[in-house]
Amino acid sequence: MQKILNYINGELIEPVSTNFIENTDPSTGEVYSLCPDSDAQDIELAYQAAEKAFPIWSETSANDRSKVMLKIADLIEKNLDELALAESIDQGKPLWLAKNGEIPRAQANIHFFATAIEHYASEAHPMGNHAINYTLRTPIGVVGCISPWNLPLYLFTWKIAPAIAAGNCVVAKPSEITPMTAYLFSKICMEAGLPKGVLNIVHGLGPKVGSAMVAHKNITAISFTGGTKTGAEIARVAAPMFKKLSLELGGKNPTLVFADCDFDKTVKEVVRASFTNQGEICLCGSRLYIERSIYEKFKTAFVGQVKALKVGDPLLPDTKVGAIASKMHFDKVLSYIELAKEEGGTILCGGVSTNPEGRCQTGYFIEPTVVEGLGHLCRTNQEEIFGPVVTIQAFDTEEEVLEMANSTDYGLACSVWTENLTKAHRVAAKMKSGIVWINCWLLRDLRTPFGGMKQSGVGREGGWEALRFFTEAKNVCIKM
Ligand code: NAD
Repeated sequence: MQKILNYINGELIEPVSTNFIENTDPSTGEVYSLCPDSDAQDIELAYQAAEKAFPIWSETSANDRSKVMLKIADLIEKNLDELALAESIDQGKPLWLAKNGEIPRAQANIHFFATAIEHYASEAHPMGNHAINYTLRTPIGVVGCISPWNLPLYLFTWKIAPAIAAGNCVVAKPSEITPMTAYLFSKICMEAGLPKGVLNIVHGLGPKVGSAMVAHKNITAISFTGGTKTGAEIARVAAPMFKKLSLELGGKNPTLVFADCDFDKTVKEVVRASFTNQGEICLCGSRLYIERSIYEKFKTAFVGQVKALKVGDPLLPDTKVGAIASKMHFDKVLSYIELAKEEGGTILCGGVSTNPEGRCQTGYFIEPTVVEGLGHLCRTNQEEIFGPVVTIQAFDTEEEVLEMANSTDYGLACSVWTENLTKAHRVAAKMKSGIVWINCWLLRDLRTPFGGMKQSGVGREGGWEALRFFTEAKNVCIKM
């Protein structure tokens, strides 16, 4: 059985304990590889390697850092097929989605920050003729990056790229549920000639090795993407140590559809916003609010298109909904469908697990599910499910839909569908959400600030925001 290895000090090595955990293909439910069960000892080794690499890497010119990162980006592109297949097997997403979306985006992340760093500048604040202030932005040192299982290589590189571009050295941990592409990525970094110790990848369980990273006194900044509960635990440990923290957490995103939307386009895009990647994207819309005058028409068209989504083998080209990433998550999503029923919801389609024909009969598949008839304050509409389950409800006025849309503890993203531009701006201004998409969904420009309000996170990633996070600002004031 294939063994995934840690990447420490430029080498692929077993964890100190020599213990491994099983890694499952969710489309079959079968164990197909082993992932290091690392612990604090491996974090210490990774830290030592990173600390040793830091003086040289932080002094390496932006142009030279950029060059090696561009090689990494090229190698991701060259290995697109292998990476996409690995991601699909490890995570359960359709292969076409990994190939057209996730892996190209991982390449884009590296490319974007490799070039951004060459344009990064800091400010000067002159005080008339008396004095001038200028800001120095220097790398922090050894930083930690922790990522989840839903978009494995995409989110892993989204953190690592700005961190190393800015001159930091990194200890990174991918999710234990989807470690494979991070492992392949370590090989790519070796082939590209990334100096040893600049990036160290330690695999294993969150509460064991992730928490050891967070608790390490010399890893002074943590960039984390994952669940809100985990984020709270990380903040609890890191805050008294005064670590810099970027927390990208959960969501319960509303989709607001007004009667004056472009109907056909909206139905099609809302289906995509609801069920792409089995609904396992933090940005997916899971609460659909439809203006009452088009509610029945929208519901019929929407449910019709959802029923037509093919659930099945992620490796087949016509599969639209693949496997749920793990058995634990599969059980969680099904338990929320039961909760929706208990809370009085009517299942309009889906609502059950399914066993596709052929090799995937023992995998973790759930039919895309639409629930009607729930109040906006019930648990189903307040808690993150993070799977192929959406609720649909009608609204009468703009005030009412804003109240319902803003009623959760989350505030990550939303989409608004209307051809009335004035209304779109008005609603966007009133949404308590880090991202508002108008007549589109998941349209991403890597320069824009990315992150959530309320319990969806603290801080912003993307563009200069990420480079600011991964640098320390120092003001130098010179009296003339
Ligand atoms: P999770 O919080 O369980 O795990 C995320 C990562 O944290 C994993 O690598 C895990 O091993 C690690 N971890 C777990 N416990 C830890 C601890 N005590 N200390 C340090 N590390 C620990 O989340 P998940 O189930 O992997 O991912 C799903 C969640 O991620 C959802 O809530 C989703 O909304 C969120 N998410 C948010 C964004 C965003 O950008 N806001 C993007 C993707 C996913």
